[in-house]
Amino acid sequence: LADRDGKIWMDGQMVDWRDARIHVLTHTLHYGCGAFEGVRAYEAEGGTAIFRLHEHTQRLFNSAKILRMHIPFSIEQVNEAQREVVRANQLKSCYLRPLIWIGDKKLGVSPKGNDIHIMVAAWAWGAYLGEEGMNKGIRVKTSSYTRHHVNITMTQAKTVSNYTNSILANMEATDDGYDEAILLDNAGFVSEGSGENVYIVKDGVVYTPDLSAGALNGITRNTVLHICKDLGIEVVQKRITRDECYIADEMFFSGTAAEITPIREYDRLQIGAGARGPITEKIQAAFFDIVGGRNAKYAHWLTRV
Ligand code: PMP
Repeated sequence: LADRDGKIWMDGQMVDWRDARIHVLTHTLHYGCGAFEGVRAYEAEGGTAIFRLHEHTQRLFNSAKILRMHIPFSIEQVNEAQREVVRANQLKSCYLRPLIWIGDKKLGVSPKGNDIHIMVAAWAWGAYLGEEGMNKGIRVKTSSYTRHHVNITMTQAKTVSNYTNSILANMEATDDGYDEAILLDNAGFVSEGSGENVYIVKDGVVYTPDLSAGALNGITRNTVLHICKDLGIEVVQKRITRDECYIADEMFFSGTAAEITPIREYDRLQIGAGARGPITEKIQAAFFDIVGGRNAKYAHWLTRV
């Protein structure tokens, strides 16, 4: 990923991709205190547009606040940086990765006296869980790893160190031949995937874990809530057990990278008809209409680059 042409925005400057480097004594590299975003730009009707840019940047600033890190740029500057990066790399559609980290002035657990840095990179990235998975559904497994508890790490912050838990769960699931993991909270209720919010459909109603189960407050999750409202589909946010999932009619994931990915099998049990379900398909189609600029109601969610 490091050896390619292109530009990365670092601390207010556009630098060559290969020169976007940091020192090995960078505080975040040692202690994991940093935060990031995952954002997508789509080749929409009327031109390339970043989807829900303001909400993603706001979540980055919220993550920074939770971590007591001060970003030395304004929300407007970070929004603008993301637009610039898409333009500078001449990308029609892409994934964007803003990241904030603590610098290399000193080590020791306390970050006090260190500088806070920020960068934005962007590159082309297709279907996160595979094109076939988007159409046919993927296979998932309950992780042996528990999702973060809300008072151990901060679950509403998209922090760097939170992803060790995600990486372990994802590696375990994929080593065992599954596409992705489902993590349970510390009380045993369904929380989320390693990088996705999760949903079930039962008798026409969509259920998703409420955020006390430690799941990230996904921006795609919020988009799904809007879509369901528009489609007249009832959504209930509540505690969900794994056996409720086993007997669900449909199951799916949402996320910026994963978009809307159907789930066809969970813990070796077929979910519903073992294919993308009809309500999942409707939500997926509505999602791609919105990000593709084909739904005027949500034009304000698209920021042209
Ligand atoms: N949960 C986790 C752990 C994630 O990493 C992500 C991806 N950011 C999500 C949920 C989905 O969030 P969003 O829809 O904002 O991408």
